[in-house]
Amino acid sequence: MSEELNPFAIAQQQLDQAAEIMGLDAATHELLRWPMYELHVTFPVRMDDGTTQVFHGFRVQYNGARGPTKGGLRFHPNETIDTVRALAAWMTWKTAVVDIPLGGGKGGVVCNPKELSAQELERLSRAYIRHVARVLGPDLDVPAPDVATNPQIMSWMVDEYETIVGRHAPGVITGKPIPLGGSAGRGPATGIGTIVTIREALKRLDIEPQGTSVAIQGFGNVAQSAAINYVNMLGGVVMCVACWDHQDRTSYTYAKQGGIDPHFLASIADAYGSIDKEAAIQAGYEVQDGDAWLSFDADVLIPAAIENVITGQTVGQISPQVKILAEAANGPTTPEADQVLQERGIYVIPDFLCNAGGVTVSYFEQVQNTYGYYWDEETIFERLDKKMTSAFHAVHDMSQKYQVHNRMGAYIVAVARVAEACKLRGWV
Ligand code: NAD
Repeated sequence: MSEELNPFAIAQQQLDQAAEIMGLDAATHELLRWPMYELHVTFPVRMDDGTTQVFHGFRVQYNGARGPTKGGLRFHPNETIDTVRALAAWMTWKTAVVDIPLGGGKGGVVCNPKELSAQELERLSRAYIRHVARVLGPDLDVPAPDVATNPQIMSWMVDEYETIVGRHAPGVITGKPIPLGGSAGRGPATGIGTIVTIREALKRLDIEPQGTSVAIQGFGNVAQSAAINYVNMLGGVVMCVACWDHQDRTSYTYAKQGGIDPHFLASIADAYGSIDKEAAIQAGYEVQDGDAWLSFDADVLIPAAIENVITGQTVGQISPQVKILAEAANGPTTPEADQVLQERGIYVIPDFLCNAGGVTVSYFEQVQNTYGYYWDEETIFERLDKKMTSAFHAVHDMSQKYQVHNRMGAYIVAVARVAEACKLRGWV
């Protein structure tokens, strides 16, 4: 991976810039540039045909000054220690920016879950937990679903962990199904949080949300909820969504005159967020190149798939009509592209603010697990909205105060909170 696209190098550069603007002392800066702990695991899994396959995985605990480390688990063939480190760093800033008492962590297994049977996936999930259980716990480090992991996988994992420790410990993993102590509203939370930040950005830009248009990359957990709620909460139009096709290993953009129907497309998408191309064509959808979503004449763009999609090479494709880039995915924009977005005056809602809705409801799930008392969906969404709205305005105001763009504003808010906790603990 080139240094330009290495997400951890990008995460460090972003921190370096914030540290300089804030005048952060050298020791705190160096402490926050690196994960405090990381575990690399290699483990065997028995396959259905009787052979053994060896998998590699990671768990990174970036910084726990503000509370137990928290962050998702990804099953992805291109996972590397540097993607996991970067995501763990962003989790640290994310929990801090929404001001919940947690640190940041992340995990991953290098695998292609699409090539595994359900039984192999279960054995892999349980084996991973057996190898990382020693560093997990509700008051230590708490995983959750992320790319290609889901509530069923979380169920196997919590069961394996509870078998190891010999007691119930539902707060060890969030994103569980409701019968195992999951929270109402966790599924759509990240997408809803994204729409709350877009709603507040539109207010600050003095734009009526009704009738605004959006182009979205991705059609998995986050993107489906963002698409549905762009229509439901803002009265806007979703012009297109783009997703990866596992069959022919290519990505496509799905568009329709007058806007797509997110409920319909969700009904013909698989569990990994791949749309059935033939069914979409039959329903009158226009199928374009996978990158086409980026050049639509939309008011808002939501990258909600993978990292490094808006780069020095692709940023020029963004239409002059775009006013807001809402980074629902983690790390979708490279620093080179970021510079261009700033010059063009596009209002960026940075990833660790924009997609913090998921971890916020994960935190609510942990609180409910601790109490053994569960809130209804309405209460969850109300509290989520309040957290996201206040985080959004804290970042906007900080950006204005320092005369910096929003990504730096978000870093300054988050890093100041983490640095204060490190200082209070006497670490620096
Ligand atoms: P997911 O696995 O449910 O969906 C991923 C989607 O991206 C799928 O539709 C897939 O087809 C699409 N995709 C993958 N590669 C693509 C490509 N090259 N071109 C176009 N589409 C492509 O994942 P998710 O949970 O929705 O997560 C999406 C992003 O949001 C990730 O960056 C993740 O880290 C971030 N995120 C997720 C959560 C959460 O609660 N799930 C929380 C915060 C951030």
